[in-house]
Amino acid sequence: GIIMRLSYAELKKKIAGIIPKGIDYEIDLEAGSISVITKQPERFVTSTDNLTVKIAKQVKRRIVIRPHPDILCDEKEVHNAVNDIMPPEAEIRKIWLDPALSEVILECDNPSEAVGPKGVNIQSLRDKIGWLVKVVRAPSIESRTQHDIRRYRKEMSDERKSLLRKFGTRIYRTKRPGEPWVRITALGSYREVGRAMHLITTNESKVLVDCGAKPTSNKNEIQPFFSAPELMPLDNLDAIVITHAHVDHIAMLPVLFRYGYRGPVYCTPPTRDLMTLLQIDYVKVSQAEGNEPPYSKADIQECIKHVVDVNWGEKTDIAPDVKMTMENAGHILGSSSVYMNIGEGNDEHKILFSGDIKYEKSWLFDAATVRFPKVDTLVVESTYGGPQDIQPTRDAASHELQEMIIDVIGRGGKIFCPVFAVGRSQEVMIAIDELFKSGKVSPVTVWLDGMISEATAIHASHPNFLNRDLRKKLLKGGEHNPFHSKWFKTVESYQQRESILLDPTPCIVLATSGMMTGGPIVEYFKHWAPEPNNTLCFVGYQASGTLGSRLRDGHSSVPLVDKGQTLMVEVRCSMRKIDGFSGHSDRNQLMDYVSALNPTPRKIICHHGDAQTCNAFRQGLREKFRVQTYAPANLETLRLL
Ligand code: ZN
Repeated sequence: GIIMRLSYAELKKKIAGIIPKGIDYEIDLEAGSISVITKQPERFVTSTDNLTVKIAKQVKRRIVIRPHPDILCDEKEVHNAVNDIMPPEAEIRKIWLDPALSEVILECDNPSEAVGPKGVNIQSLRDKIGWLVKVVRAPSIESRTQHDIRRYRKEMSDERKSLLRKFGTRIYRTKRPGEPWVRITALGSYREVGRAMHLITTNESKVLVDCGAKPTSNKNEIQPFFSAPELMPLDNLDAIVITHAHVDHIAMLPVLFRYGYRGPVYCTPPTRDLMTLLQIDYVKVSQAEGNEPPYSKADIQECIKHVVDVNWGEKTDIAPDVKMTMENAGHILGSSSVYMNIGEGNDEHKILFSGDIKYEKSWLFDAATVRFPKVDTLVVESTYGGPQDIQPTRDAASHELQEMIIDVIGRGGKIFCPVFAVGRSQEVMIAIDELFKSGKVSPVTVWLDGMISEATAIHASHPNFLNRDLRKKLLKGGEHNPFHSKWFKTVESYQQRESILLDPTPCIVLATSGMMTGGPIVEYFKHWAPEPNNTLCFVGYQASGTLGSRLRDGHSSVPLVDKGQTLMVEVRCSMRKIDGFSGHSDRNQLMDYVSALNPTPRKIICHHGDAQTCNAFRQGLREKFRVQTYAPANLETLRLL
């Protein structure tokens, strides 16, 4: 049926009709959600009234309840009340206030003790302090990034509150007359891997998906197509949605803030944390290489201020005619497929951006979700979409890893793996941990160099985004927590790295960057590649144009720039490639993913693969599913409705 869009005034009227007389409340906007600000929050959340659910059903919007500022205690009183009410067995570690959301977060070792039977402790605390209370388990490793983001958000809470209202008001602007239409413009990652950016334009709004960099030595190809006229002026952009925190999807996002974008960025909380970490690193790496970074730390902070957290499964309005839901994509921590519902009634068009997907359960994540309502257009990644791109299973990969470690360490060599800080390194850590714990391989030190420890801490802070087995192990803690095992050691300083480089003891090193375009892995490579006993081991995708891909293709000596001088590195070490750790689906998994969508999408757009692969995958999809398939070039636009 046709649901007419309500104006803000009509919406308020409708809500007024639902809330019983005598309850005090105000209505406000919090980005895509309606917030009900009240001095009697208990009336909205108790099961007898169930007002929140009633309102949400009637107005078809997300509803959040926020206690009125008048009933909120100050910070000192909050701390005192927590000390009075929470039992010592709860082991409270930290108390975080988020004034923009009137929310107190309690980090503790025993959440069930903190919550109490039937939530009695939470309830009495809430009654005493007025704030909403959220209890989470204290992570086993503290993340610096998450700490900084929480502190920054607290400092900026007034500004954030008004920003969220501004985002919300824009969503409720009056409807434009005229025929509805939908287009997609390819602004990066089409017929290539890197610099993902897509623009959805409708008769009413503009939404951008992802904003990445390309890992390449060709300076002209690093940024996505910011110069495309469709993107300008940036004020016309309603929202940006981020699928996941890989450099090729997020590294250029702060550039938009540098050029004046001041709208919302929607992503999951782990994506928020990881992308901040990677963007800060992107600036550092650019400077270290003697390049002018495309943005500053201030631009990154501006970006954090504009992030709106969205959890999986929460349907959120992001533009007057666009609702969006994110679901697990199985690729890296917090990675999501983005489902967009555009327009209404007979003129509805539903787009699914797969994002990067792994359609198989991995050591870290569940398989990508395929339970979506009808999809009209699918925009799908094609990294391993070629007919030859069949990968071994996780078990086979683990077995290969086992044999390699026994072999190399046995002859006194060292293993060094280029890894992405996010995703692959944690997968490989868990695989190695299993081999060591099971006794299949005798343990050696595994050095983690370049942001891997911080990225791992962010994983430990978001257990709800991991698969059930791993979540359980993390929650049990101690020796069960694979990230905590004694063989994993972090390289803390330049001096420590120097001593590892010169130490003859066999060991394993996991270091960034994943395609050897920079970072500490290059140092290990310089020192260890000339030694025949050592092994350079690839566990992830190597895009063409990177040092990683040249080595994988068998170059026996490569030039490297070192302190302004070009240095030839002779490659005498052995090289191994273990494919089963990929966070991407192989050809079969991609086909299975499309098969599992029911009904089959009418249009399928392939991107995120080199030109040949995108085209081969497109052809394969057409033959199998008999639907319209496309592999457009960058800057092309397709009309979808
Ligand atoms: Zn990715």
